[in-house]
Amino acid sequence: MACVEVAVFSPLPGSFTYSWPEELGEACAGIRVRVPFGKGFRNGVVLRLLRSAPEGVELKTISDRLDVQPLYDAARMQWLDRVRRYYLATHGEVWQLALAWAAHDDHRRFRCPDIGAFEKAYPLLAGLFINKRALSLKKMAAGLVTAPLVHAVHSACHAGLLNEVIQKPLLEHSEGKPFELQLTEAQTIAVDHVTGAAGFTPFLLFGCTGSGKTEVYLRAAAEMIRRGGRVLVLVPEIGLTPMWIARLQARFARVAVWHSAMTERERLAVRQHLDHTDILIGTRSALFLPLPHLSMIVVDEEHDGSFKQLDGIAYSARDMAVLLAQQLNIPIVLGSATPSLESWRQAEAGHYQRIDLASRIAVHALQVKPKIIDMRQVDGPVSPQLQHALQQTLEAGDQSILFLNRRGYAPALQCCACGDVPQCPACSMSLTLHRKAAQLRCHSCGFSRRVPLCCEACGEPALMPMGDGTEKLDEWLTEHLPALRFARFDRDMVTSHTRLSEILAAFERRELDCLLGTQMLVKGHDFPHVTLVGVINADQGMSLPDFRAGERWWQQMTQVTGRAGRGDKPGHMLIQTRMPDAPWLSRIGESEAEATMHEELELRRMLNYPPFARWVRVLFSAAHADRAVQAAEAFASRCHDLSDVMISGPMPCPLERVAGRYRFEVLLRDVSRQLLPWKLAALLDTLPVPSGVRRRVDVDPQDM
Ligand code: ADP
Ligand code: ZN
Repeated sequence: MACVEVAVFSPLPGSFTYSWPEELGEACAGIRVRVPFGKGFRNGVVLRLLRSAPEGVELKTISDRLDVQPLYDAARMQWLDRVRRYYLATHGEVWQLALAWAAHDDHRRFRCPDIGAFEKAYPLLAGLFINKRALSLKKMAAGLVTAPLVHAVHSACHAGLLNEVIQKPLLEHSEGKPFELQLTEAQTIAVDHVTGAAGFTPFLLFGCTGSGKTEVYLRAAAEMIRRGGRVLVLVPEIGLTPMWIARLQARFARVAVWHSAMTERERLAVRQHLDHTDILIGTRSALFLPLPHLSMIVVDEEHDGSFKQLDGIAYSARDMAVLLAQQLNIPIVLGSATPSLESWRQAEAGHYQRIDLASRIAVHALQVKPKIIDMRQVDGPVSPQLQHALQQTLEAGDQSILFLNRRGYAPALQCCACGDVPQCPACSMSLTLHRKAAQLRCHSCGFSRRVPLCCEACGEPALMPMGDGTEKLDEWLTEHLPALRFARFDRDMVTSHTRLSEILAAFERRELDCLLGTQMLVKGHDFPHVTLVGVINADQGMSLPDFRAGERWWQQMTQVTGRAGRGDKPGHMLIQTRMPDAPWLSRIGESEAEATMHEELELRRMLNYPPFARWVRVLFSAAHADRAVQAAEAFASRCHDLSDVMISGPMPCPLERVAGRYRFEVLLRDVSRQLLPWKLAALLDTLPVPSGVRRRVDVDPQDM
């Protein structure tokens, strides 16, 4: 009897063996199946075929086959297994994540051209099509209790007795125009490098905003497609996709887009046309779409934190894209004006090939020199200087952008009088305010202390949690600049893609004078009429407890400077801060990039922080604090078996209680980068998670 090993979509570790019934046709790896599991049924993926059944075990039988053809080829299956091992996930978890794109089968619709012939061949399914000529799988399943349904539908399709209804492609096929611009010398060299790569080669394309990186991706992509390949472009935010789609459609005939805000029917359309897609642009989950003949990957704005998933498997789409490129033996281009230190380090070590696009192409788009505004004596969110500048910009008929960095949930404390932010004595991090416990804590080493009553730098009783929300600013603008037509542009808005496009279009048509937004706004958009950029509170990002706070803050501010003055008018940038002397402030700007990254990298090297060490955070949560602590302690004590790995904790998470659960974490640090995460796998497997406790592993945590 044929047997198969199945990754069942469940959080249980390991895979499961089932027998394969003949009536489902030939078994193969990489297809989804429906299996009896526990008391019910679940879906899963066939990992491999087994030669012989394990002895003495009575196997359950696969109930239905959900795919005719494998969804992934062997190379992608191997890649996915590497993803699983790296993030210490179970088979079920990783496949569920990967196949989210295929989970909308219910919406597939089928027509029956000849009901009589169909009834004869599939008496079990007879009746379904009596009056309705098109049915969805979901409706069919409702009308039929006996499995295997999906398999029957597939074979009926194969026999021509059913026809699947094909959705219209989301993006019309366009002409695909020839390139007009003459590439600069630097661009030509970059394109030649990428298209000349033999097999797996990671490139770090380093160039300031407007230096022509996108043009390089497009040219290289065109060449790859000309040779018969396909290209995947990953972008951090769906906010960037409208701009990308416009640019891609101007050049390429068969473009597809993929992001989280698409409807199920739209997803189905992408999937149905995947074989006829030359270039796929999408956010991180697009990585898992099995684009055939993939021959190049582009990760734009590679430094962006949005590539890291925060719930479920905490994977980094950028890092896994590199792994995929390696598995498929193809080039990958990581592009940024402000590369991540991870990629910068890889380039320094010679693992990535760095390509520089030195200067901006547009002559007018000179570097904007930011003006620092000291907010220590100012009441309210907007300084008189910024108010004045907004007014003037409005009167000149130009547009402005206000940037409010709201990242981070647990605010730090800051002294309103002198700007000081309490720091950990042992780490280069600021301390996080834990309101409930009235403590300041370090998230790196676990150090904690009571919240001081007065600032220790200047003695004033002026310590305040930092943060002006968008609502507050909204109110202020309505009251003080009533003539200003503005809109808020943040993550809350972007759950609707239409709304996002509307706002952007209105801004482009100049029906809005000002956009007020979070980091989403600073990425990649090209706003030719923006001459003023105001940063409401620069300190908000700078003093997060994360050791990466400085790096991120600098990346964002530098990206912000790229938004001002891209057209033919000079731009202004005003930065409001309560720490006007902070060293990062003098570093803002693309011309400072190399020196800044070099310096920060040296600091990380000295401190043995990532990217020099590999960190893994293991989080335990439970409804009762005791249970979470006990589980965390049991885990931490077992970790001592991992010699050469440094262990901190258990300590309470910055957000100690979430949705009624108490959370504690253990941080493991591996300076050698050889042990983690792999050594941890066996330990996690042998250490059962107590009931009522949830355990979550985060390899390369980004938010510390
Ligand atoms: P980046 O992706 O680095 O921000 P882009 O590729 O978007 O840069 O280029 C910035 C602007 O310069 C765009 O308007 C683009 O059309 C234009 N551009 C790019 N390359 C050239 C070139 N070789 N000659 C003229 N204009 C160019
Ligand atoms: Zn510390």
